[in-house]
Amino acid sequence: GVARHLACSGVIQRVTSRPGGRIVAIGTEERVFNRHQRRAIALRDGRCIIPGCGVPAGWCEIHHVTEHARGGPTHTDNGVLLCWYHHRFLDRIGWQLRMNAGVPEVQAPPWHGTDRRWRAVTTSPVRLKKRLLRT
Ligand SMILES: [Zn+2]
Repeated sequence: GVARHLACSGVIQRVTSRPGGRIVAIGTEERVFNRHQRRAIALRDGRCIIPGCGVPAGWCEIHHVTEHARGGPTHTDNGVLLCWYHHRFLDRIGWQLRMNAGVPEVQAPPWHGTDRRWRAVTTSPVRLKKRLLRT
């Protein structure tokens, strides 16, 4: 779990060198979301997307919904905001995440006591404003 968490949010760049010191290969950091992607995701999600969690975007990490190691792209359609706690313990807590046409959806864990329907997250300030204007 720790390794998966670090692999999702950390920065590791592999540099391979020969015994004499010549650099022969430099890995890319493409699995890390860049600042433009972070801003866009922060605008879309607003804060940690787990219902009831109020950690603001600036304190959140970007989580690959489909793990990068399993072929998940570092793209806004595959990244969501999670606070450190929910990112680190997502597997243990049981919330399920998926993307539906670029919009994150969550499913409550069985212990939550609610129905297990997939729901679009409601933390987006843009989405909340639109909902407010409709009423
Ligand atoms: Zn959270």
